[in-house]
Amino acid sequence: MRFLNKINSHRTILHCDCNGYYASVECLLRPELCNLPMAVTGNPENRHGIVLAKNQLAKEAGVLTAETISEAKRKCPNLVCVRPQHDLYQEYSVKINNIYREYTERVEPFGIDESFLDMTDLWQNFAISPAKFADSLRKRIRENIGLTISVGVSFNKILAKLGSDLKKPDATTVISPEDLPTKVWPLDITNLLYVGKVTAERLRILNINTIGDIAKTDPAFLASYFGKIGENLSLYARGLENSEVQKYSELDEAKSIGNGMTFSEDLTDWTKIKDGLSGLVDEVVTRLIKAKKVCNVIQVQLKSSDFQVYSRQTTLDQHIQKREQIWVIVWQLINELWDETTPIRLLAVTVSGLENQGEVYTQMSLADLSSSNKQTVVAEDNKTKDSAKQDQIRNLVFKLNQQMGGNFLKLGKNK
Ligand SMILES: [Mg+2]
Repeated sequence: MRFLNKINSHRTILHCDCNGYYASVECLLRPELCNLPMAVTGNPENRHGIVLAKNQLAKEAGVLTAETISEAKRKCPNLVCVRPQHDLYQEYSVKINNIYREYTERVEPFGIDESFLDMTDLWQNFAISPAKFADSLRKRIRENIGLTISVGVSFNKILAKLGSDLKKPDATTVISPEDLPTKVWPLDITNLLYVGKVTAERLRILNINTIGDIAKTDPAFLASYFGKIGENLSLYARGLENSEVQKYSELDEAKSIGNGMTFSEDLTDWTKIKDGLSGLVDEVVTRLIKAKKVCNVIQVQLKSSDFQVYSRQTTLDQHIQKREQIWVIVWQLINELWDETTPIRLLAVTVSGLENQGEVYTQMSLADLSSSNKQTVVAEDNKTKDSAKQDQIRNLVFKLNQQMGGNFLKLGKNK
């Protein structure tokens, strides 16, 4: 192929993907779950709670991510549901990334259970080939952590990511430039990162069904028909994506803490959205607390099933950290953002404006407020403190109302 010589083939990029991550961590800590169909879910007492992850046995029984617990139990009556422990998943994620970092400083997490590694000119120190290095890394994670990973090895991030999906669990897939026509182009378009249901349908109308079809289509046509995403898909399909793997140390000094989730089935009702967002907020708050940070910018992002991205954020005058404070704002933002009809494929919550905890004035929780309201007899000292506290909160609520167009919080009169 004429353009193959334009490919930047000297790099060695790995994409490492933990297999069935949430469920695997749960099974690791509670081995009795391994031989049962199990799912990590929202609140099982709420019949509309959704499946966030499932193990192999549940998968074989037809359980899907993002379906309700009752839908899942209809297919798999003996399904064991466990609540997510996001701090635990975060902890394991750090442990796994720390292992990757023993081999290269360029480790870029892509979600909680996936990372890109740039092993260019480094794999030679550890193995006789990039594939052998990937094999030894899988063994290391299996033995040291007890989880399995699938690894894609290629010359760019997109193809490494595609490779890690081709064989799992616990497998290595290499995609070299020469493999492009034989291993990649015959694959269905949905194997390519960012080709979702709606884009796939639009491509199929044009009789573009495989990644090879994308590669052979005039890039200018794809760009005019699909915009930026068309341009990118053409580069991806031709092996020309070339972005760097970020250094972990540079990510460490995070300017923001965010978490997103792509749902295998589009979300179309408030209950599922609430469950999805709730899990994301849990994880963001856990990371915020762990990093000893407070935030004053909160953003909610949603990607529709046709890959349009919508986001909304608010900046507060004071920094916050507590879950209930962040949740109220996230809920407000999603209510402003979602039109109640667009199917949602991805939700993300990001907090920024990070400062070190204790170095800036932080707002009291709403619970603090109500408890101070309930106090009827207080010592003089406390009374002064309490009214100062209430004034601060009144000011905050006033500002929030101004910023968010009213009705953010209704502060009752002293009871
Ligand atoms: Mg995974």
